[in-house]
Amino acid sequence: MPPKKILVVEDEPDIRKLIHYNLAQEHYQVVEAEDGERALRLLQHEKPDLIILDLLLPGMSGLELCRAVRGRPDTARFPILMLTAKAGEADRVVGLEMGADDYLTKPFSPREMVARVKAILRRSEMQAAGSGEESYKKGPLKVNFATYEVTLRGKPVRLTLKEFELLRVLVHNPNRVLSRDRLLDLVWGDETFVTPRTVDVHIRRLRKAIEKNDRKPTWILTVRGVGYKFDENAVET
Ligand code: CA
Repeated sequence: MPPKKILVVEDEPDIRKLIHYNLAQEHYQVVEAEDGERALRLLQHEKPDLIILDLLLPGMSGLELCRAVRGRPDTARFPILMLTAKAGEADRVVGLEMGADDYLTKPFSPREMVARVKAILRRSEMQAAGSGEESYKKGPLKVNFATYEVTLRGKPVRLTLKEFELLRVLVHNPNRVLSRDRLLDLVWGDETFVTPRTVDVHIRRLRKAIEKNDRKPTWILTVRGVGYKFDENAVET
């Protein structure tokens, strides 16, 4: 297997070198960019398995770059680990809203950084493997992606196509916070006339269809100010 490639976008040379060194120790291939513009140019021919992205960059900010990456079909699925200078809740929420997969607050230990990188790569590998599968089964829930059939404790569940697509995205991203914007992107794509509200409405219907008590959902959880999370452990128990 070829080594995994990681793009590091960070303007501070010392931190960039530190990240590079520690990833190289783990046999990752590292590509460096000192700003967002350079990163975007690199992305046209490099296909990184992960992007480590500093929030504070000269010129194009880390958030703008994150949005640009997520907005292009050929780069939209690259996992992003965001580096933030402040431990502030706002930064974290904004980062996740913009579609970052995880974040790390500076100063961070190289060990912690490597651990996060490994976790994200493992997750994206599992997703890639899972996306080719015909069905999903956990606890009482069964979803057949080929026939669009959903059953709960053996009984068929009727869903609209959009509700089904939403469920598909949720079960393929277990235990992970998905912002409304990300869900809009993944389920509705380029369709116009949809707003984050659309996501809420469909989530509500999906909860009605599969949750035991849709007023107290345990599978599809609301993450305040950000979006939703599919709690796979709750489905299993
Ligand atoms: Ca910086």
